[in-house]
Parts: sequence; C-alpha cells; structure tokens
Amino acid sequence: MYKAKAYSAASATSPLASSTIARRDPTETDVQIEILFCGICHSDLHQVRNEWSGVMPTVYPCVPGHEIVGRVAKVGASVTKFKPGDLAAVGCMVDSDHTCPECQAGLEQFCPNLTLTYNFPDKHLGCVTYGGYSDSVVVDERFVLRVPSNLDLAGTAPLLCAGITTYSPMRHWGVTKGKKVGIVGLGGLGHMGVKFAHALGAHVVAFTTSPGKKEDALRLGADEVVISRNADEMAKHAGSFDFILDAVSASHDINAYINLLRRDGNITLVGAPEKPMPLAAFGLIMGRRSLSGSPIGGIPETQEMLDFCGRHNITSDVEVIPIQKVNEAYERLLKSDVKYRFSIDMASLKSE
Ligand code: NAP
Ligand code: ZN
Repeated sequence: MYKAKAYSAASATSPLASSTIARRDPTETDVQIEILFCGICHSDLHQVRNEWSGVMPTVYPCVPGHEIVGRVAKVGASVTKFKPGDLAAVGCMVDSDHTCPECQAGLEQFCPNLTLTYNFPDKHLGCVTYGGYSDSVVVDERFVLRVPSNLDLAGTAPLLCAGITTYSPMRHWGVTKGKKVGIVGLGGLGHMGVKFAHALGAHVVAFTTSPGKKEDALRLGADEVVISRNADEMAKHAGSFDFILDAVSASHDINAYINLLRRDGNITLVGAPEKPMPLAAFGLIMGRRSLSGSPIGGIPETQEMLDFCGRHNITSDVEVIPIQKVNEAYERLLKSDVKYRFSIDMASLKSE
C-alpha cells in the first residue's frame, strides 16, 4: 500500500478538500498510473452530493473522477499492454468478473459484478474505490485504455466518460450518413454527441436552453440549432428525427422530444436527472417510437472510440483548472456555465 494525494468530500454537504488516500501496490496484472488530467463529469457532482441515493448511495469520504488520463509509472510482472512511460487512460470501470456473458461480449458495463472507478466496494483494500481527483491510481490492465499519441491530453480525459457515453448509443442505434439526429443539452456529454454525430455523417440538430451556445453548436458540428424553450422552433421539427440523444442533467419535458421522432425513431436518455420524469404513453404509441437508456460503453468500444478520435482528431473542448478550483467548478456546472468540460490539471495537486 502507498499513500496518494486526492481531493475528497466528507459528506453530501461538504466541499471537496485535500486529503490522503491509500492505494494498493500494483499486483501482477495491475498498471500504476500517474494521473495528469481528470475531467469533471456531472455524475461526479450527483454522487458527491448523494443525489443518486436511491440507486447508488454515496459512501464518504468520496473521491470522484472517472475521466482519467496519465502516464504509466509501474506495471505488474504479467502486464503486456503497457510499460512505464506510456500514456494510459481509465474511465468509469476498473474491474468486472470477466466470465459472465456480458463480459465475454465485451460489454463489461452490464456485468453483474462490475466495479466502478469510485464509490464501489474495493475488493483489494476493503473500503470503496477512489476515483481520479488524485495524483495516482492502480488499475487492472484490462481496464486501462491506450491513448492515441496525436491528441491533446487535457481534452482527451473527458472522452473516457462523456466520449464513450455518447459514442456508444449512436453506434448502437445506427447513426450514419442520411440520418437526422438530435442532441439535447449542450454540456460535457452533449457537445461530444454533436462532434460524434457530425463525424459519423448525420444531419445534426442541437437543442439547447442556452441561446449563448448557438454559435458554438454550429462550430462543434451542428447543422441546425434549436432553442428548446421556443415552442415554434420545436414544432418545425415535429415527426422528423431518426434518433435523439438526451444528455440533460436535470428534470425536463422528454415528451416534447418524443414528439419530434419519426415512425420507429428512438430517443436514448444518457442524462440521469435526480428525479423521475413523466412520460405520455401516446407519444410512444403513435409512431411506434421507442425510449431507451444507455450506460457508458464496454472496454473494446471505448478503445474503438479513442482510436476513432485519434483518426478524426476529436477531443473535448475543455477549460483546464487547478484542483483548488473544483468547488467553484461544481457551482458553474450547475449553471450550465462551462465550455464544455472542466479538465483538472493534476500537477496542481503537488502543492497540497
Ligand atoms: P453538464 O455538462 O452539466 O451538461 C448538462 C446540460 O444539460 C447543460 O449544459 C444544459 O445544456 C442542460 N441542462 C441543464 N439543466 C437543464 C434544465 N433544467 N433543463 C434543460 N436543460 C438543462 O452534464 P454532463 O456531464 O454532460 O452530464 C449530463 C448528464 O448525463 C448528467 O445527469 C450525468 O450524470 C449523466 N451521465 C450519464 C452517463 C451514462 O452512462 N448514461 C455518463 C455520464 C454522465 P444547455 O445549456 O445546452 O441547455
Ligand atoms: Zn461521467
């Protein structure tokens, strides 16, 4: 065991503060990573504040962070994919059982024995797992991803959650040239959704509540932008979408978007608001439309997404911050005031 520096929350109402945590020494199959950047996902905020208490109650102290990019410091004796000095990345998962049908299909995100990167029982140390708001992490090599060498590292970190969470459902629902695709909510996830839908060749319409994001949405790859609070603008798109990705973090009217789908169109929720949202059955019935959800993506698809980003030179638009600004960043996240992801420069932890 060794000590690592981290930022942790002591309770649902405490700010994140400097602390020291225990990490395991790398086992045979582990990779020890010096963390360079970690993105701030809205899920970090939901969890730190225990907003998902009904589904996954938060255990304190909580060290969030599952958008991790760094450099390999040490590897276990049987590690073959990495050597010290390599770039490496870790997303939302750090372990699974590797034997169930989901794992065998490369869909580890559905494994019944999955271990998430933070706030999950840690079978090595007996406490809970601690995430990437830290200077170091130790992860089984099967959950460590390779980083294309041409990508900016601060902008690569958010690909590990915001990237895969938007890429995976678009691949699943066949987003491609000739499809009309809507992206709802231009935050960390949504702005990646716009980039991917554009790179996959679709006609992309971005839906935002923030008129100030209109120009950005076009620059990010949207063909059209709709201010979703304007009913006339919404009505123009009725019955026309093949696929809509909803990446909104708070309760909102999903029925308004279901009505924009064409026959057999699908809307997938990736946003995970704290409270349930009402659903009007007729919106789905008329038009045989479907509503689904999607969690992150499996390890093979996460590597596919990173390689796709390498080929298309796609990274997240980030505002790089020192860890000392993390509490302020959370408040700004709640006001949709980030373009479009905070990425923490972990070198700032050295002064703690
Ligand atoms: P974010 O950066 O805060 O973006 C959320 C966006 O939603 C905002 O930028 C805003 O976009 C829109 N929005 C916020 N409040 C709204 C409201 N009251 N009404 C309508 N629109 C509103 O968050 P994120 O990190 O992208 O995460 C988005 C959601 O996805 C969170 O709930 C997060 O927990 C969840 N998530 C799920 C997965 C998964 O595996 N399914 C993975 C990661 C995150 P505009 O300003 O454009 O309106
Ligand atoms: Zn996330």
